[in-house]
Amino acid sequence: MTADKHAKRAARNLAAREGISYAAARRRLAAAPVDVDQEHQEPRPPVAVPMVSAPCPEGCEGSGHPGTACWAWRPADVGSGTSWAVRRAAELPGGRAEQLAERVERPWQKTPGGPWASFHAWDDRWLLALVYAMLTDQRPELRPDRGALRAAVEADDLAAVDALLEPLDRAAARLTTKVPAVWWGEVKPLLDAYADDVESDDGRDLLVVSWQEVEARHVVGRLVDRWRKAWVPVRNHNGYMDPPGVMWIVVKEWLDARLVDQHGGHAPGARVRLGDGRPAVVRAVEWGEDGPPVAYRVRELEPGRHGNVGRLVPSLTSDVLVPAADCREDRPCGVCGRTAGMAEALCDDCAPRVAPDRPGRAVGGLQSPERPSGRVPE
Ligand SMILES: [Zn+2]
Ligand SMILES: [Zn+2]
Repeated sequence: MTADKHAKRAARNLAAREGISYAAARRRLAAAPVDVDQEHQEPRPPVAVPMVSAPCPEGCEGSGHPGTACWAWRPADVGSGTSWAVRRAAELPGGRAEQLAERVERPWQKTPGGPWASFHAWDDRWLLALVYAMLTDQRPELRPDRGALRAAVEADDLAAVDALLEPLDRAAARLTTKVPAVWWGEVKPLLDAYADDVESDDGRDLLVVSWQEVEARHVVGRLVDRWRKAWVPVRNHNGYMDPPGVMWIVVKEWLDARLVDQHGGHAPGARVRLGDGRPAVVRAVEWGEDGPPVAYRVRELEPGRHGNVGRLVPSLTSDVLVPAADCREDRPCGVCGRTAGMAEALCDDCAPRVAPDRPGRAVGGLQSPERPSGRVPE
């Protein structure tokens, strides 16, 4: 019974990996000698099988090179004509996670203090890799077509690689979240279950999968180890025992930024204007089955009260879901062209210079007129 379960699973994996039907995968596995007998017998000693010397063409069945194992093409097999960014963006799960993190975090690292601000986020890119691994394991249809991916990578075409991986990125963006209740209640239990699943795999079917599959599972095993480590309490710098956790909100941010790049819309952190004219800041993007964003989670802006009087700052507790149609782009400041972010057409710095006699600063409908707002002395 167990052997049957493993044979079925191996056939499923083989079918997904090679793009052949399940029945064909069963036939191929039945034709191949399986070195493990039942529990009562010693496994036969392993046999060394040489490998072909170059990646096989697409759809190779192994008949062209008898006695040698197939070498299915992987992004790592490209020559020097492909840039590092393209190659890594096509490599699942870790390479792509690293590239998506890099696209968002690298510009931050160039700002003063940036290396400190983005240090933890960059460190937690393994979580995105784990999300990719889970999605491609559970939904093999999200894997890009290998032939098309090979063509895109060999053409050094980053946009084509991104387009092929768009369904996977979208599924990941729809799974991940910035809402604490959703993370703790839905997403983390899913990842826990996947980690259990990976760890309960006793490795029997490794004998019938390809050497590349063995390597891929080793990578997933390392990711699961990292996931477990994040939830084991250690003594923190305050002397308390606490699990270090993982900065899970950044994964959503990286995926949103990458999809907005392709489909348009407002990236996380963008200032928008709601339907009634109130300014807000995009926190997370909600994606539908395809196309541009369908809705945004925004944070409303409130007048600053602590040393930032006269400016609008995001309310840290606000989390409003707004349909995409009700969000429009904030006009840049009419004088200097920077983000205005206030109810007027001018930014915080230009408003007092252009109209110095205005009574205080009107900041949209957020402040009632009778409430003395913190205004700058004239
Ligand atoms: Zn072959
Ligand atoms: Zn300005």
